[in-house]
Amino acid sequence: MSKNEVKTTCSYCGVGCGIIVKKDINNKVYVEGDKDHPVNKGMLCSKGMNLHYVVNDTSDRILYPEMRWSRSHPRERVSWDDALDRASSVFKSIIKKHGPDSVGFYVSGQSLTEEYYIANKLTKGFLGTNNIDTNSRLCMSSAVVGYKKTFGEDSVPISYEDIELADSFLITGANPAWCHPILFRRIEKRKEENPDVQIIVIDPRKTDSANFADLHLQLLPGTDVILYNAIGRRLFERGYIDKDFIKNHTEGIAPYKELIFKTSIKQASKLCGVPEKDIKRAADIIGRSKGFISMWAMGLNQSVVGTNKNVSLLNLSLITGQVGKPGSGPFSLTGQPNAMGGREVGGMANLLAVHKDLMNEEHRREVAQFWGVDSISDKPGYTATEMFDALESGKLKAIWIVCTNPLVSMPNTHQIERAMKKAKFVVVQDISYKSDTVDHADLVLPAAGWLEKEGTMTNSERRISYLPKEIDPPGEARPDVEILCEFAQKMGFRGFNYNSAEEIYSEYSAMTKGTNIDVSFLNYDRLKTEGTFQWPVPEHRHPGTPRLFQDKQFYTPSKKAIFNIPTGIENTSFKPTEEFPLILTTGRIRDQWHTMTKTGKVSRLKTHYPTPVLEINPVDAYLNKIKEGDITEIKSKNGVVRVRAKVTETIKKGVVFLPMHWGKQLQNDLNRANNLTNTEVDPISKEPDFKFTCVSVQKYTKP
Ligand code: SF4
Repeated sequence: MSKNEVKTTCSYCGVGCGIIVKKDINNKVYVEGDKDHPVNKGMLCSKGMNLHYVVNDTSDRILYPEMRWSRSHPRERVSWDDALDRASSVFKSIIKKHGPDSVGFYVSGQSLTEEYYIANKLTKGFLGTNNIDTNSRLCMSSAVVGYKKTFGEDSVPISYEDIELADSFLITGANPAWCHPILFRRIEKRKEENPDVQIIVIDPRKTDSANFADLHLQLLPGTDVILYNAIGRRLFERGYIDKDFIKNHTEGIAPYKELIFKTSIKQASKLCGVPEKDIKRAADIIGRSKGFISMWAMGLNQSVVGTNKNVSLLNLSLITGQVGKPGSGPFSLTGQPNAMGGREVGGMANLLAVHKDLMNEEHRREVAQFWGVDSISDKPGYTATEMFDALESGKLKAIWIVCTNPLVSMPNTHQIERAMKKAKFVVVQDISYKSDTVDHADLVLPAAGWLEKEGTMTNSERRISYLPKEIDPPGEARPDVEILCEFAQKMGFRGFNYNSAEEIYSEYSAMTKGTNIDVSFLNYDRLKTEGTFQWPVPEHRHPGTPRLFQDKQFYTPSKKAIFNIPTGIENTSFKPTEEFPLILTTGRIRDQWHTMTKTGKVSRLKTHYPTPVLEINPVDAYLNKIKEGDITEIKSKNGVVRVRAKVTETIKKGVVFLPMHWGKQLQNDLNRANNLTNTEVDPISKEPDFKFTCVSVQKYTKP
């Protein structure tokens, strides 16, 4: 490494690839994959390899704080002092008049761990409300619940290195070929080098991941639980179960067995739209494997039955005893680079730091004591959708949005617009004017971006990495922790006078001591000199923990893993009607990231999909008189979208697909997929139902 080079981590997806950043004499940066990094071994996907364009082009950046005194006036540039004075005086006055639960923070899985920690300490410890939630609620809260119910704590058991040891993969509700490309490259390599390795993909769309698979089960949306149970039944019938593991290390097998034997494989085949022989083959592949890995993402999580889908999938790892041994285990894929770090510091309305539980009195007392506050409220905070419901109804008066763009990413975006208009005070702390949400802010705070601040992140496999500050932020933009700590001090709170991100990390890591996510022996020095570590790192010189539960001691009171019975096997989303006969599912495309505030700046990333298109099956296209390239009008009970049609057999009949990325990037809110989506959520995880919205589709002709 030359002195003009620095090692860091990609700021896009949860794969967490290592990047080497080089700087020229004009301070322009260039990126390349880090060949020594254990995650990507030098590889980068299209998004990662173009990250330098995003950093070098500052034309869209928010450079100065801006404020408006009333909604009828435009925002104008103000000093940082004036901006944070105004924020603190408005928050104080609203809290005094309406109580602490009248304010809230909506944060992001792209925030660094130190930022997440401070935002939570500020909200739960000092503002006196648990109204802090995150956009990670939209992508992985169902997986968190699944892990807690099954293993006793939110714990991803395995590592990417297990990919090289597995002989079968069940990829379900995920398209890693596009959304986690470097991870998928490792799976491809495993298959190339070992052709006997078998890959099963479960997805209503024939994605690039499905094209690579040995077996694609193209299920009807929402029938996942029935399908997993049918696979479980076949595993039992064929004797592919690990009796010793079940007997010694699990609880609840009897009701699970009773449930899965209630539905025959033939019935399941009919309900799921998957041939019986394929269900049997999937089970046989899994049952014959020495190492079986299940992988999933939004297709399971973003559902009104997301918890049921998660526990049903996890049950397959339990009956086969495929947990805590090399090359096996369940593996939820996080979409955002630090969704996992947010989980560690309690970055959700129902969590506390270090995996403690908000509803546990003892846990609240411990965290309050650590922060030196009298108590933490026992009232659960608003989750993401609840927060915007509360804004719309007037219960929540002020919202502070950090590093996320709910105007495009939340379900039912027209409701989000109404909520933002109804709010008394909206603060948006972000890097780019390309976020549609900035338009609704009363106070805009310019934040530092990737390479412009230091901190840590944790990827999908519990790997913590240190991200250095390499360049100065443009204009007056500042690191998020500085902004939040100065606000806290202006509110009169003590305990926020840190001199560096390192001091915040040290406080957090001390808090982990003795817990299952102990990183109390992992400091900035080790991260800077030795590289990345997978938690826990519970001792001096400990190398980190690639695999959990090797001793088969789970985090439940009995130390046994638990078979959970789904509350029902059916999907409870609104069913198609005569008016809205098709099922819309939304998702990502290969070269764009979230709401395109970063990837939308890179022209070469637009060549793959220059505009959003509706994927529709030829039969549905014919029935609705739609041809390839026609502009279609898609309607749901919540709104309208107009985009061109892509007629393709890759999507199942009765189902249509829209990418979720576009907002005002095309100067047209009729591109926003979330104009259509439902606000219904899973009753436990509170994750929205992005994968099942009933819509109508017709050819659009200009009036
Ligand atoms: Fe970045 Fe994810 Fe691509 Fe890796 S796979 S380069 S982390 S976007």
